[in-house]
Amino acid sequence: MNALRTLPKVDKCLTHSLFEGCNATLMMKIARTKIEEIRQQLIHKEIESFNEEALMQEIKKAYDALFEPSLKPLINATGVILHTNMGRSLISKTLLDRASDVICNYSNLEYNVELGSRGERYEHVSRHLKELLNVEDVLVVNNNASAVFLILNTFAKNREVVVSRGELVEIGGSFRIPEVMKQSGAILNEVGATNKTKVTDYANAINENTAMLMKVHQSNFSIEGFSEAVEYESLKQLASNHNLLDYYDLGSGYVPKLPYNLGHREHSLSEILTCNPSLISFSGDKLFGSVQAGIIAGRADLIAKLKKNQLLRMLRVDKITLSLLEESIKAYLREEYEQIPTLWLLFRTTEDLEQRALHVKEIIGENACEVVDSETYMGGGTLPNRRFPTIALHVKGKATALERQFREKHVIGRIENDQFLLDFRTILPSIEEKLIEIIKSIVGKQ
Ligand SMILES: *Cc1c(COP(=O)(O)O)cnc(C)c1O
Repeated sequence: MNALRTLPKVDKCLTHSLFEGCNATLMMKIARTKIEEIRQQLIHKEIESFNEEALMQEIKKAYDALFEPSLKPLINATGVILHTNMGRSLISKTLLDRASDVICNYSNLEYNVELGSRGERYEHVSRHLKELLNVEDVLVVNNNASAVFLILNTFAKNREVVVSRGELVEIGGSFRIPEVMKQSGAILNEVGATNKTKVTDYANAINENTAMLMKVHQSNFSIEGFSEAVEYESLKQLASNHNLLDYYDLGSGYVPKLPYNLGHREHSLSEILTCNPSLISFSGDKLFGSVQAGIIAGRADLIAKLKKNQLLRMLRVDKITLSLLEESIKAYLREEYEQIPTLWLLFRTTEDLEQRALHVKEIIGENACEVVDSETYMGGGTLPNRRFPTIALHVKGKATALERQFREKHVIGRIENDQFLLDFRTILPSIEEKLIEIIKSIVGKQ
């Protein structure tokens, strides 16, 4: 009973020096819970006494825990440039700085300064995007998943959409083309076989209830060997002949020529757009290298219809997205590719990566590490099975233990053939110094 009587009052925390500068309401709420916990433990004889100072420390710890960041920067040393679990594309500090004027001030987001009246949110990026892509019109929504949903819901509700069985993909667990189609109200008419679909398969599926012929980029897998897919141009032609819409869900769209031979299946946006698709859509944060967004491009009359769908209000983008996207597009127009970190990382030569890795090896010492040639993937559901040359630092030691030790310091590497690798393809030069300190602190302990 004695111990119970000595339990501190919540007010006592207010005067304790530990809590100077704390939010009193928040701190007292935490204190009340902690003191009550101790009271219950004393009543139920789980403990016999308590230490008041230790209790105060515990309250402070719980208070501080509330302010620990949940989102933290990581050092991506996996080599996977578009790592969906690590935030896909990076935004350059320069572009963020350029966009911050709009983000941190009132803006003409929906205000027409010339007329002094309400303006159009979607007009801002559209001028730049139309120039970049050379299309009639564009529309930007929250992500590419919403773009797919909006397009299907607007043009194919209760009507059929013809898709190849080889393209009924699932992306990242929660996005499955057949499910999305069902939710949007469109009716899936699947044609062909998993490995082969011909133009005649699409042609035979067309009936009076068909609204659209759709092509979906396979994104995170590829069918090798005995396979055949219809080129978008033929699909477009067939759709036009039957007065139907054609739509290509590209997933990842890229603007400049990539430095690797990607084979005949990967086309740049400009190559796809030369066959004049009715509509295409792609993600803003995959190979395009900007913010999370769904970019829709194509015929102006169709974009106008999309804008009339009430759903758009639910999928609309914020000024943060629009201003950053505008800066990325302007960087493209100026060919400032160094401001698109996704491309910058992809464009680094192995000679360049090797030089940087050798520099780190020199500091760490060759007893602890070595520079190795390796291969990596693009990730983010882009360029499946396409390996890129890369250079990694092999940190010697037990791979699984090293993986954990580095992860504890927020460095994510990869294990290959029982070796722990730090892949320079995704290591930003700006964090190299920090990484060196972390490597030193870990290999020094071994
Ligand atoms: C990635 C992808 C999507 C989804 O795009 P988000 O921007 O992640 O919403 C849809 N379709 C294809 C083909 C994709 O590759």
